[in-house]
Amino acid sequence: MIIGTHMSIADGIARAAENVVKMEANTMQIFSRNPRGSTYRTYSAKEVEKFQKIREEHHFGPLLAHAPYTMNLASPKDSVYEFACMVIKEDIARMDALGIENIVFHPGSHTGIGEQEGIRNIIAGLDQAITGEETITVLLETMSGKGTEIGRSFEELRTIREGVAHPERIGICLDTCHVFAAGYDIAGDLDGVLEEFDRVLGLELLRAVHLNDSLMPFGSRKDRHAVLGGGAVGMETLLKVITHPYLKKLPFYLETPLDDAGHKEEIRMLKERLNDTGKS
Ligand SMILES: [Zn+2]
Repeated sequence: MIIGTHMSIADGIARAAENVVKMEANTMQIFSRNPRGSTYRTYSAKEVEKFQKIREEHHFGPLLAHAPYTMNLASPKDSVYEFACMVIKEDIARMDALGIENIVFHPGSHTGIGEQEGIRNIIAGLDQAITGEETITVLLETMSGKGTEIGRSFEELRTIREGVAHPERIGICLDTCHVFAAGYDIAGDLDGVLEEFDRVLGLELLRAVHLNDSLMPFGSRKDRHAVLGGGAVGMETLLKVITHPYLKKLPFYLETPLDDAGHKEEIRMLKERLNDTGKS
């Protein structure tokens, strides 16, 4: 199983990788830059080398970078949109240079101009950022659909992907909390949801799973992550997700509201549950 959590890079990327090992995990998600601002650090060659060495020695699975929340590629507001275009272009290049396999972003909120216009902005933003020469895959995240958020339905994600010049560089990150809140009943009918995903997008586009429980009920369109088993999705469903034949080889990233010690325990508990059911 490839499993990890969102890791802080406040002490650098090599330290984050060291903490992954201590956590007995084998992948991680990191922010591509300050998630609520615009700044980022440049890593020294020595630090990058140390980071690469750790991930090789410990056989890390695919790593995931997360673009900042302040980035809204759907925005009709010039300053917001230009900032988003700059960030996604820089961060795709920066994360690709680090050898990170995937970068995920929230498609954005149209803030009143409508889905079609919002999606048009997202496509133009991606087209100025993706050269087609990258190794990294750019992942669209499935969203809960709060406010004017784009990406609540698989169809919207398909429209974005099919609209860009380099669709082969675009994949999907499925967030278990978000899809459930968006109205895809993974608790009642996981197979049905995955069949729908396959029909609309194609399961081969699925590159990563954000493994979260949901504080908010099914179809609430609210995005509040809960610890595994502490929400409306429930532990049994999350175990089905990580052992599902269509999903089990994917990397799973916890974004549950816990610190490193709590995440370590959550990963240990997951492995134990898998051993109990003999499915690991
Ligand atoms: Zn996200």
